[in-house]
Amino acid sequence: MADPTIAVIGAGPAGIRATEALAQHRLPVIVIDEAPKGGGQIYRQPPDAFRRSPSLRYGFEANKARALHTTIERLASAIDYRPSTLAWNVWDRQLDTLRAGKTEKVPFDFLVIATGATDRVLPVPGWTLPGVYTLGGAQIALKYQGCAIGHHTVFLGTGPLLYLVAYQYAKAGATVKAVLDVNAAAAKRRALPALAWSPSMLAKGLYYRAWLGAHGVVVEDGVTPIVIHGNGGVSELTYRRAGVETTLRCDAIGLGFGLKAETQLADLAGCRFRFDRESRQWLPERNADGESTISGVYVAGDGAGIGGADAAELWGERVGLAIAARCGRPRDTTRIATIDRQLARLAHLREGLERAFPFPSQHVSTIRADTILCRCESIRIGDAMAAIRVFDVIEMNRMKAVTRVGMGRCQGRMCSAAAAELLATESRQDVAAVGRLRAQPPVKPIPLPWSSPR
Ligand SMILES: Cc1cc2nc3c(=O)[nH]c(=O)nc-3n(C[C@H](O)[C@H](O)[C@H](O)COP(=O)(O)OP(=O)(O)OC[C@H]3O[C@@H](n4cnc5c(N)ncnc54)[C@H](O)[C@@H]3O)c2cc1C
Repeated sequence: MADPTIAVIGAGPAGIRATEALAQHRLPVIVIDEAPKGGGQIYRQPPDAFRRSPSLRYGFEANKARALHTTIERLASAIDYRPSTLAWNVWDRQLDTLRAGKTEKVPFDFLVIATGATDRVLPVPGWTLPGVYTLGGAQIALKYQGCAIGHHTVFLGTGPLLYLVAYQYAKAGATVKAVLDVNAAAAKRRALPALAWSPSMLAKGLYYRAWLGAHGVVVEDGVTPIVIHGNGGVSELTYRRAGVETTLRCDAIGLGFGLKAETQLADLAGCRFRFDRESRQWLPERNADGESTISGVYVAGDGAGIGGADAAELWGERVGLAIAARCGRPRDTTRIATIDRQLARLAHLREGLERAFPFPSQHVSTIRADTILCRCESIRIGDAMAAIRVFDVIEMNRMKAVTRVGMGRCQGRMCSAAAAELLATESRQDVAAVGRLRAQPPVKPIPLPWSSPR
C-alpha cells in the first residue's frame, strides 16, 4: 500500500516535533510554514546576516531553541519542507498554498494543523496611533532583527509575555518606562499554588519581575488604561491605579492581553469547536490523540489552545505518534503514556496562568464610545453598540453583516475577542452564547491575480 500524504502546517515547536515523530517512522511529510526558517514564534530565527547570539535572543530558552532549529535543519533534506509558504485555505481534503506569488493545491490524507497563536488585543483609546504595537509584534522586532519599537517604551496589558518582553527589551538596552498590568496582584497570589506545578516557570516569572524592579522599571498591577495620546505618533499614556491618574511620556507602546489560538484553518477544515471557559476562546475539539472531529485532521500546539512551547512540543510528538500508528506503524504506548503525564502536569500550570492573568473581559464595555473597535474597517465602539441595539443583534456573524466588524483584511483576528465581549454585554448574554466568527478564505491577505493593461 502506498504511503499516505501527510501535511503539517507550522514549523514551530508543535509542527517540528510532529514531523520528527513521523520521519522517525519513515513516513513522508510535507511541512508548510509561512516563515522563512523553522522555530515558530518563540524560537523565531533571524535573517542570515544577523548575528545576535541565541542566548541573547532566547535567554533561558536558548538550548531548547537550538535543539529545535537543529532538528528542522536535519529533517529538511529528508522531508518536503516548504518554508515561506502560506496555507490560506483548506477544502475537500486539500490545502491551498501560496509561495513566491504562486498558488498550489496540496491534497492530503492526514493533516496536522500546528499554526500557533497570535496576540489577543483589546482596544484602548488611541491604540491605532503609529507607535502602538502588539506585545508579540514588539518581541518579533527584537527577536528577528534586533530592533526596538521605540526609544521610551511602555508595555501594557496582561499575561506572562508582558513581563518577558519588557525584560528582553531592557536586557537588550532599550529604555522601558513601565510595565502596566491590568490584573491585580491578588489574582497572581491566588494562582501561586497552581503555578507551583512548574517551579522553574514560576521562578522565571518572578525573576523577570524582580529584575525589572531592580533596574528601575515601574511595574504596576491593577491598572486601568485610559487613553494613549499622540499627534502622528504616540507621545503619552494615561492610566488609573488605585483612584490616581498618571500620565507617562513615551514614544511606543507594546499592547497585549494574552494570546489567542490561530484556529481559522481548523474551522475551514470543518472541525467542531467548543467554548473554553478558562481562556474565553473557541477551540477545535480534539481527542486524546489530538485528532479533531474530522477524521485524519489533527491539531497540535497553541493552535489547539494556548499551552506554551513545552506543551506544544509534546502535543506535536503525540500527534505524530498517533498518525504513525494509524499508518500501520507500531503504537509507542510507553512514550505516549509519558507524554500524557507531562501534558497533564503542564495543564495545571496553564490553569494557574489563566487565573493569574485572566482576560479582562469587562474592559471593552467601559471604554470611550469613540474608540476604534475594528481597525481594518474603522468602526467605533459606539457605532457598533448602536447597530447591535437597532438591529437587535445577538450573534457574531450577524454583527459582522450589520456592522462590518471583522470583515476587513484581518478577518477578525485582531478585533473578534473585543467584539464578542461587546456584543455579549450589549445583548445581555454570556459570551459563549454570541458564538464566533466563521473563518473565511483566505485566512490571511493574498495578492489577487493581476495582469497589467496592454
Ligand atoms: C508573537 C508571539 C511571540 C511569542 N513569544 C513567546 C516567548 O518569547 N516565550 C514563550 O514562552 N512563548 C511565546 N509565545 C507563545 C509561543 O509562541 C508558543 O507557546 C509556542 O511557540 C507554540 O508553539 P506552536 O508550535 O504551537 O506554534 P508557533 O510557535 O506559533 O508556530 C506556528 C507556526 O505556524 C506558522 N503558521 C501559522 N499559520 C500559518 C499558515 N496559515 N500558513 C503557513 N504557516 C503558518 C507560523 O509561521 C509559525 O511558524 C509567543 C507567541 C506569539 C504569538
